Amino acid sequence: MAERWLSLSWWWACEARRGRSRRGSGRCSGLSVVRGRLFKSRERLEALLQDATAKEASYADFLDTLLAEEVASKTAKHVTMRTHLARFPFVKSLDTFDFSYQPSLDKKQLQTLSSCHFIEHGENVVFLGPPGVGKSHLAVGLGLKAIEHGYRVLFATAAGLITALTKAATEGRLEERLKLYTVPRLLIVDEIGYLPIDRAGANLFFQLISRRYERGPMILTSNQSFGSWGDVFGDPVIATAILDRVLHHAITINIRGNSYRLKDKLKAGLVKPVEATTT
Ligand code: ADP
Ligand code: MG
Repeated sequence: MAERWLSLSWWWACEARRGRSRRGSGRCSGLSVVRGRLFKSRERLEALLQDATAKEASYADFLDTLLAEEVASKTAKHVTMRTHLARFPFVKSLDTFDFSYQPSLDKKQLQTLSSCHFIEHGENVVFLGPPGVGKSHLAVGLGLKAIEHGYRVLFATAAGLITALTKAATEGRLEERLKLYTVPRLLIVDEIGYLPIDRAGANLFFQLISRRYERGPMILTSNQSFGSWGDVFGDPVIATAILDRVLHHAITINIRGNSYRLKDKLKAGLVKPVEATTT
């Protein structure tokens, strides 16, 4: 067995040398792991070969370890790239969310959502609640989970999204812009209701909602109850049409609690706590 490993190591070493000299001459390396763009394997090959020789591992086990490391490395790279492309305002995972601070939240429900079945089932998730209760944090946390599950995600604030759609419409690029928000498997629209939306903006938002309806799940966050969305969108008819589509397949999570931003002030008794109620 040791002899087999020695001969394999010798062969790899020769291939690697050949690869190096070809690289030096500007030609493609002969080593298949290099040719196959198996970058992690190239980096780890020497150490894994030594390890396999010492352990007298079988070829199958060696290959298994080598490919497992390659896959793990490629997955990590994809996650990093997709996290960057998602344009999150911050990167905070669900693990860093303190559920004990927000007793109105059902931790189990969030854990279920983190398995991302809602994406597979084309369901929307809507977080409602006053400022500081963690709506954006939870939306980003679920977005990161979706990326880990291999989905493409895009984050935008309602104001940013409507400004971009309005600009695109005036420049004759609306279709292109709508596509940008339609293509990602999961779209997160944060802060609906913080800034007033005019009728034209509401119409553009409705077009986007219509495109994603029953095709692309969304996570929406708002500090306004659904009953106030008529005011948010400046038109009760458009607001009803938007809500009709959003809520057809949706999980609504109402957060009733204290702002996390006021955590220290609450502790010091400088502000009064709100009474938590379950959803
Ligand atoms: P909202 O979107 O509801 O206004 P955010 O999600 O922006 O609130 O939360 C405000 C800040 O407080 C963020 O930095 C967020 O990470 C943090 N935060 C909110 N709730 C919690 C919590 N329960 N545990 C840990 N951090 C929290
Ligand atoms: Mg927020």
